Amino acid sequence: MELAVISGKGGTGKSSISAAFATLSERVMVVDCDVDAANLYLLFHPTIHKEEIYVAGESAIIDESKCTDCGLCMTYCRFDAISEVNGKIIINETTCDGCHLCSRICPEQAITMVENNKSRMYSGDFRNGKMVYGKLAPGEENSGKLVAMVRDEARKTAKENNLDTIVIDGPPGIGCAVISSITGVDNVLIITEPSLSGIHDLKRTVEMTSKFNIKTWVLINKYDLNETATKQIEDLCVHLNINLAGKLPFDKKFVSAMINCQSIVEYAPESDVSKKIAQVFEKINQKPAER
Ligand code: SF4
Ligand code: SF4
Repeated sequence: MELAVISGKGGTGKSSISAAFATLSERVMVVDCDVDAANLYLLFHPTIHKEEIYVAGESAIIDESKCTDCGLCMTYCRFDAISEVNGKIIINETTCDGCHLCSRICPEQAITMVENNKSRMYSGDFRNGKMVYGKLAPGEENSGKLVAMVRDEARKTAKENNLDTIVIDGPPGIGCAVISSITGVDNVLIITEPSLSGIHDLKRTVEMTSKFNIKTWVLINKYDLNETATKQIEDLCVHLNINLAGKLPFDKKFVSAMINCQSIVEYAPESDVSKKIAQVFEKINQKPAER
C-alpha cells in the first residue's frame, strides 16, 4: 500500500502524522517528498547508503578575464538575473533561469552555462525500515522531477526489500511537486485543520486530487480548536463524497515528541492521539475506499 500524506498548506501537522504512520510497524518505506523543506531525516537520522546528484537545470557564469563589462547581457536578460555592481557585471545564479540567451549573445564568449548540481537524493536505513528523501538546493528548480526521482528510488528499494507499506510525506500546496508525489499512489490523505484558510485549502486540494482518480481521505487535525469549522469540513467531505479518515485532538505531546526526535506513537504510544492515528492508518489500509 502506497500512501501519500499531503496538505493544502504548511503547518497542519502533515510531517508529524507521516512520521507517526512510518513508525507504526517495523517494516516500512518512508519517503520525504517535501524536497523544498525535507525534515523527516532530522527525526529519523537515517544511515545513508546512497547519495545521488540531481541536476536541476543550468545557470550562466561569467569569465571575468574575458568580460569587458559592456552590459549587453544585462540588457537582454528577461529574468533580471544580471546586474552591475561597482562597474562589474554579475549574474545572480538564484534568479538565472538557464535560458542560454546571454551565453549566445555575449560578443566576447565570456559566458558559459553550468549545471545546477547541488540538489541531492538520499537513500538509507532508519529504525523502522528504509528511507528515501530529496533535498532541493536553495534557488534550484524542477522540484517535481526530483520528487519523481525520489519516488522511483523508493519503489525500487521497497520492492528489493519486500516492503509492502510506503508512506510518502508530500509537499504542501497543489503544485508540480505535489502532483508528482501523489501520481500512482493507492491512497492520498489530506491533512487539514479547522479554520477558514484550512477549509479553503482543502477545497483546492480535493479539486486537484479529484483529477487523478486516487482514493482520497481527509484527516482533521486539532479538530477541537474549532468545532464549528470541524463540522463544516465534515459536511464538505459528505458533499464531495470524500472519505473522512478521522479527527485528531490538539495535543502538546506532538511538540515534545519532536523535541525528543521521536514520532508521537513512539513518544506516547498509549496516548489517545496515538491510538487514533493507529486507527486512521488501519482504516486507510483496510477499508476499500470510494474514489
Ligand atoms: S555581454 Fe559578455 S562582455 Fe558584455 S557584460 Fe555580458 S559577459 Fe561581459
Ligand atoms: S541564462 Fe538567461 S536567465 Fe540566466 S542570466 Fe543568461 S539571459 Fe539571464
